[in-house]
Amino acid sequence: MAEKGFNPYAMAQAQFDRVAELLALDEGARELLRQPLREYHFSIPVRMDDGTVRVFRGFRCQHNDARGPSKGGIRFHPQETVDTVRALSMWMTWKCACVDIPLGGGKGGVICDPHNLSMKEQEQICRGYVRQLWKNVGPVNDVPAPDVMTSAQHMLWMLDEFEALGGGHYPGFITGKPVGMGGSLGRTEATGFGVVFTLREALKDLDVRPEDTTASLQGFGNVAQYAMRLYTQLGGAVIAVSTWDNKAQAARTFRKRDGISLDELLAITDRFGEVNVDKAADQGYEILDGDDWLVQDVDILLPAALENQITAENVKSISKRVNIVAEGANGPTTPEADKVLHERGVFVIPDFLANAGGVTCSYFEQVQSNMNYFWTRDEVLGKLDLKMTDAFIAVSELARKRKLFMRDAAYVIAINRVAQACKDRGWC
Ligand code: NAD
Repeated sequence: MAEKGFNPYAMAQAQFDRVAELLALDEGARELLRQPLREYHFSIPVRMDDGTVRVFRGFRCQHNDARGPSKGGIRFHPQETVDTVRALSMWMTWKCACVDIPLGGGKGGVICDPHNLSMKEQEQICRGYVRQLWKNVGPVNDVPAPDVMTSAQHMLWMLDEFEALGGGHYPGFITGKPVGMGGSLGRTEATGFGVVFTLREALKDLDVRPEDTTASLQGFGNVAQYAMRLYTQLGGAVIAVSTWDNKAQAARTFRKRDGISLDELLAITDRFGEVNVDKAADQGYEILDGDDWLVQDVDILLPAALENQITAENVKSISKRVNIVAEGANGPTTPEADKVLHERGVFVIPDFLANAGGVTCSYFEQVQSNMNYFWTRDEVLGKLDLKMTDAFIAVSELARKRKLFMRDAAYVIAINRVAQACKDRGWC
């Protein structure tokens, strides 16, 4: 869902090129890793509830599978673009390598707006998506998952279609399934909690106690809600949250200077993560402009909505007090803004480390599905904490040792692992 003038694929490639240079990667490896290995573009015809047929465009990109099957979500969004899907598939490769799980990178998307589609129409999109792709995806080559505006229900429809076409049970085809239907306990919390596991470690590095900090969040969907839960449990206070207001076609920031109660905010939020403006006003929230989440006088910024949100234009308006940016969303910071944050000494926990909890738990889901033996929630979240903490420590130690920005250190670890796997296989 790229905005006009912004190309996330160009940004992902620019980030890669810089680190390829740093690593002195040879030409063959650069050429191979700076674009997806494979991509599929297709049409999904849907019989709408009013009897007409509408055709939706779908994409799937498999960026790299040298370390294991491609892995990555499927997004439903009216402004989805193939370049966004390409960029996200590339980031998935780095993410899986960064937390050292045996999976590659993939991503999918459909240009559609679930706000305006019935559940029956959405089911047809899910089934149509799998019909177009089923020979090229599956437990041993490419494993989808939920992402923006897709849920466990969408995954189950996709699994059902895949199993109908394949004539068997393949629970390892897809993750993010409902619990009881092969899903893992802890998956819903995993990404948001994972962000806060890394945030907790960053605060330790900076010798700051969570209970002495405040945060401002962009987004209040799956990632932000669970990040807020764990962060507030650790003692931190969220004072501002921004969400999309579909009716007004604009974002809004909701602020309570003394700290927002998670349960209170959840009670006035719909299933798309949109806070009801009228109810928020009734409950004493200050209603500010959508971009105002970024200019709050807080210690931590936690973007958890969209890519391309902290830019060259707005980075200078970030408060001097901010010392951590924990990237819950994928690609929220542009390279120009990144440079400014680096110069200012802000501790950035890069997206493909910070939000890797989701894919790590998806990997746990695959393991459990394959064993047909399921762990308790505490077991899952305990293993997740270990994996995220280990990954954070490896990146921050390298950053310290080689005097690298956290994003570069994470890239060095991830790209090295993937390039080595390609080399070992004799691909480059
Ligand atoms: P979601 O659909 O559950 O929530 C998105 C939230 O962003 C909603 O609250 C929406 O109102 C808000 N939003 C949308 N546009 C906005 C705008 N312009 N300004 C302010 N708020 C806006 O999505 P999610 O699953 O929470 O994912 C959020 C981000 O995290 C995405 O970048 C996604 O790719 C990334 N991510 C998600 C997961 C996961 O497991 N869900 C894993 C890794 C990365």
